[in-house]
Amino acid sequence: MTKTIDLQVNARNISDMKKGYPLILKEAILNPEVLQVEGSIVRLIDRDRRFVAKGYYGLQNKGLGWVLTRKEDEEIDFDFFESRIAAALARRQELFDNPNTTAFRVFNGEGDGIGGLTIDYFDGFFLVSWYSEGIYSMKHYVYSVFDKIMNYKGIYEKKRFDTKGQYIDQDDFVQGEQGDFPIIVKESGMNFAVNLNDGAMTGIFLDQRDMRKAIRDKYSEGRNVLNTFSYTGAFSVAAMLGGAAKTTSVDLAQRSLAKTIEQFSVNNIDYEQQDIKVMDVFDYFRYAKRNELKFDLVILDPPSFARSKKYTFSTAKDYPALLMDAIAITEKNGIIVASTNNASFGMKRFKTFIETAFKDAGSRYKILEESTLPRDFRTNRDFQEFNYLKVVVLQKTK
Ligand code: SAH
Repeated sequence: MTKTIDLQVNARNISDMKKGYPLILKEAILNPEVLQVEGSIVRLIDRDRRFVAKGYYGLQNKGLGWVLTRKEDEEIDFDFFESRIAAALARRQELFDNPNTTAFRVFNGEGDGIGGLTIDYFDGFFLVSWYSEGIYSMKHYVYSVFDKIMNYKGIYEKKRFDTKGQYIDQDDFVQGEQGDFPIIVKESGMNFAVNLNDGAMTGIFLDQRDMRKAIRDKYSEGRNVLNTFSYTGAFSVAAMLGGAAKTTSVDLAQRSLAKTIEQFSVNNIDYEQQDIKVMDVFDYFRYAKRNELKFDLVILDPPSFARSKKYTFSTAKDYPALLMDAIAITEKNGIIVASTNNASFGMKRFKTFIETAFKDAGSRYKILEESTLPRDFRTNRDFQEFNYLKVVVLQKTK
């Protein structure tokens, strides 16, 4: 067994760590210089060298690693991984039993007890994402757990641990049978085409399941819908299945056109009746204003940061301006779905962006609903920063 390394936690961070804060923050550690090899097991100790927790060293865009256990005598070994993964699977039994939803998250990092590791399920296939070299060095445990307790057709993995949490492009197949991609998964009865071996993304962001269902069931009927930052058009599909009059999907990535056509087609929606625009959302807003286009439902789901040839956009800074653009082309009593996955601010601050935007636009609104991550994206309730998703559905009343 490798020797564990003692990491001394400073006084300011110790109580959070005792309460269950899972991230080993750089500024929380007094002797980070002892860390050498990612994947090393560390003992977190207080000023008096008393045991607080055990974790691992793994560099992500945030922190030095993750706490794994608060029990001094618990080893980080096969049994550890098996117990955490088995518990996570048991928590999702209802989803496994639901024939209308065959794609969801089965293991959500620190929310299920192991930061830096996520596992998603796609109709018999599993996708494992590794967020650091450190956690990846323990992959033999995880794949042994798969072989012991999980039924699967095949396993794919994404390595997201090079420089900036970016994905490393390669063949992502691990073991089992190869998928015949795209495979069609179900979500709340809708179909989505998914490819687990085609770059960093799969075709669908599973964390928006609740909002896709809400858009279909509550906000689309008879409406003219604008879906911005539309990626593969999943929200547009949901809107059409909810009886929308028409959708317009806007994304600047070339791939979005073929992918959006595919998502409509696997749901028997005639894509030729829809507008799919490969263009910059900010240019589209200008075009829409110039042509006095108005929509009854506008969906805003931008990436946290985006840089195109002409614009840079950061949700933390520019969300109010983005909302003002949306407000300008939303009909009176129309609906705006404002979403962000930026973890650097919470719901409260997000709502101040909304407040500011409507005020500056000389417009009014009321909030119809708000939501965060779905249950399978399990997070620690005491530490909201890990619940990165914020969605507010609002109605423009003036
Ligand atoms: N709403 C999507 C996910 C959005 S992912 C869904 O529900 O599936 C973010 C998308 O924004 C990416 O597809 C990216 O290509 C696109 N994007 C980033 N900057 C953009 C810009 N300035 N204009 C249009 N699309 C942009």
